[in-house]
Amino acid sequence: AQERYTSIRDKPAKTLCGSVISLQMNAGLMADLPSLAGSGAEGVGLFRTELQFLVRNKMPSRTELAALYARVLDAAQDKRVVFRTLDIGSDKVLPYMKPNDEPNPALGWRAIRVGLDKPGVMRMQLQALMRAANGRPLTVMFPFVAQFEEYRQARAEVDKTVAREARLGHVLPARIEVGAMLETPSLAYAPQKFFEEVEFLSIGGNDLKQFFFAADRENERVRRRYDTLNVSFLSFLEQIVARCAQTATPLSFCGEDAGRPVEALCLAAIGLRSLSMRPASIGPVKSLLRRSNLKDVRNVINDARDRGEMSVRPAVMEWLRTHG
Ligand code: PEP
Ligand code: MG
Repeated sequence: AQERYTSIRDKPAKTLCGSVISLQMNAGLMADLPSLAGSGAEGVGLFRTELQFLVRNKMPSRTELAALYARVLDAAQDKRVVFRTLDIGSDKVLPYMKPNDEPNPALGWRAIRVGLDKPGVMRMQLQALMRAANGRPLTVMFPFVAQFEEYRQARAEVDKTVAREARLGHVLPARIEVGAMLETPSLAYAPQKFFEEVEFLSIGGNDLKQFFFAADRENERVRRRYDTLNVSFLSFLEQIVARCAQTATPLSFCGEDAGRPVEALCLAAIGLRSLSMRPASIGPVKSLLRRSNLKDVRNVINDARDRGEMSVRPAVMEWLRTHG
């Protein structure tokens, strides 16, 4: 099926109205790396570092991690790789860490919360990333940031690690870009200063949607109950786009929905200009974007919302049938 898209692999995802959408890939395992060249991805928009921790039966060492991350950066050549620091807890439990008995793990001690409360592993990971970069630029993203202060503390850890590495005589990355995932509704309402300080944001749509609708993403009974193209959720995403536009904060979307062509089209129509998805989705998403006029899609979305529809999906599907 991928052969269908080879003719557009090296072409931009440029829409009929002239908008260019950056398409990147999600990764996490070494086996994902060959897709960087094969899929036409502009870079790795989300590298889930916890996968390397989950496939082992003991905690990897700093040296091992540095070697792995260096291989990732080598494979990416000059493409940008967004390394997300360890996102554990909730559904991702490390076999060699003491399990927490939590009544609501999705709302529990996870991701950046663990990283800030017990910073040992996060510090080791930051050192490994800096050593892997070895003079190249480095991009780090913190998961599950719910308030400004957590970003500030995490950023301070990056600065401390830079100072420590310099003291130890290691080569520092040419530049370090530090961003956050926006996957709790609270962060969308953070003070303007947060949007000014954070170097980029990436919407973790899987978690953001789960918390927006209060519907467990792991629970088969409820996980498909609310549509991503639900008008309330789209309005919320539009507000995030508007806040980022105000401060010129680069914004991307890296949840699974970015890889679904109709969802990706609607995300682009409401203003997203960077999407990160599984490599196999890049062809189909690019193909649809290149055939679409975002202004028309935006009108279809607005009209459906004005009519009081629950989801814009039926209207967009109908529009695609007649114009796509
Ligand atoms: C998300 O929440 O949308 C996301 C990209 O991260 P993960 O699926 O790993 O939680
Ligand atoms: Mg998430």
